[in-house]
Amino acid sequence: PLSDFGLIGLAVMGQNLVLNVESRGFQVSVFNRTTATTDEFVGRHPGKKLIATHTLEDFVQSLAKPRKIQIMVKAGAPVDQVIEQLIPLLEKDDIVIDGGNSLYTDTERRDAYLAGKGLRFIGAGVSGGEEGARKGPAIMPGGPASTWEVMKPIFESIAAKVDGQPCVIHIGPGGAGHYVKMIHNGIEYGDMQLICEAYNLFKAAGFTTDEMAAIFNEWNEGELQSYLIQITGKALEQKDPDTGKPLVEMILDKAGQKGTGQWTLINAAENAVVISTINAAVEARVLSSQKKQRVIASKQLQGPTPDLSAEKKALVAKVHDALYASKVVSYTQGFDLIKTMGEKRNWGLDFGGIASIWRGGCIIRARFLNRITEAYRDDPALVNLMLAPFFNALLNRTQQSWREVVALAVRNGIPVPAFSASLAYYDSYRAEQLPANLLQAQRDFFGAHTYERVDQPEGKFFHTEWPEVIG
Ligand code: NDP
Repeated sequence: PLSDFGLIGLAVMGQNLVLNVESRGFQVSVFNRTTATTDEFVGRHPGKKLIATHTLEDFVQSLAKPRKIQIMVKAGAPVDQVIEQLIPLLEKDDIVIDGGNSLYTDTERRDAYLAGKGLRFIGAGVSGGEEGARKGPAIMPGGPASTWEVMKPIFESIAAKVDGQPCVIHIGPGGAGHYVKMIHNGIEYGDMQLICEAYNLFKAAGFTTDEMAAIFNEWNEGELQSYLIQITGKALEQKDPDTGKPLVEMILDKAGQKGTGQWTLINAAENAVVISTINAAVEARVLSSQKKQRVIASKQLQGPTPDLSAEKKALVAKVHDALYASKVVSYTQGFDLIKTMGEKRNWGLDFGGIASIWRGGCIIRARFLNRITEAYRDDPALVNLMLAPFFNALLNRTQQSWREVVALAVRNGIPVPAFSASLAYYDSYRAEQLPANLLQAQRDFFGAHTYERVDQPEGKFFHTEWPEVIG
């Protein structure tokens, strides 16, 4: 019989997705540029409903119509190359799905291009890494609603399930799916950095790695329950087989990145949306990668000698609050960006639905996402997540500890870029008065940019003839 589904690109993600789809009762045809990989993969799984193909022609011919073909190759030019090779082999209404980490603008371009050829395209963000792909990822598909309807049974059956609900919804048309996946990754950067800052403070306060593991394990039982907190506890428990020391202490403090965090920053800048927590997280990775410079600077640039011993006992609860509050800010900013772009592009996004599909399968899965879903369900027009009753109360409850943690870190010369950026956003957003009056004076002074007055209606602009400055 012909296959229900086809997948191109048998690297880590592709192989695991294929096994996932097959395990739900579908027959899957597979193709990989390097055909030895195809044979090796199918050979390793005897008895499964997998069809190995060695040419794209055979691959396409092995699929039931309308064909459903998912591409899981390296993001960027390879996706376009595979699409070009496929086009002459496909027929009207066949569906091509790009499940890689593609930039949403590439997805928009491909969507329009394939539509022009009578083909249907879905740009779907898939999160959850290898394990998610195998057992159930969160899927963020974008494209026409009618195409989503065709793909829905397969996507819903392979997605992660939380409370019986599949972690996939139709995000919106065109590039909406890959866009939301990009923001998911930006938020992931923020969550990871916040956890690392907590770890760094605990380390400075003299907690052993085992003690820290216990703290994160305990946090995972409470409000902060999430995959990233869970794996942090487990990672801290891990011992290095060679030295017997905690493995994390043997890992070089130099982080890499693949670019989705940077894409998020660029998009936020383009839309004039503040995502300072994610920004701090991306920049923290950049600074971490400059290890050689940091080693030199550590011998030249002075700071206090950290002494947090007096705070050790109280620190755990305070850092918990600082992390939680900063996380709320990070999601507030991420959703602000999603909302801004969604409105600009007319994507008709369901913010609560997006938060709910992130509860399972993906890297940022967390109990607290339910609260975001509830916040948008209670008030679909919510302007800022921090103002939703639950988050408002949470921030009022935690803000004092949060400040104490940031102050303590600053006094001791311990960098907490994401904690402090989040707090600065919080304090700026809640400030009735900011110093932008002076800023406007400066702008009008040198550039005649005009300003509004506190005693005049909004939208009425004034200019002052400022004194001339010589020299
Ligand atoms: P890679 O990104 O490492 O891509 C390798 C695959 O792409 C191989 O199958 C390779 O074929 C194929 N390929 C590369 N160039 C071409 C080309 N020009 N023509 C045809 N095929 C090509 O694989 P991953 O599984 O890691 O990721 C796949 C996608 O999923 C990427 O977009 C990635 O960003 C995304 N993703 C990855 C996650 C992860 O945890 N790894 C998580 C979520 C998304 P060959 O064997 O012939 O070299």
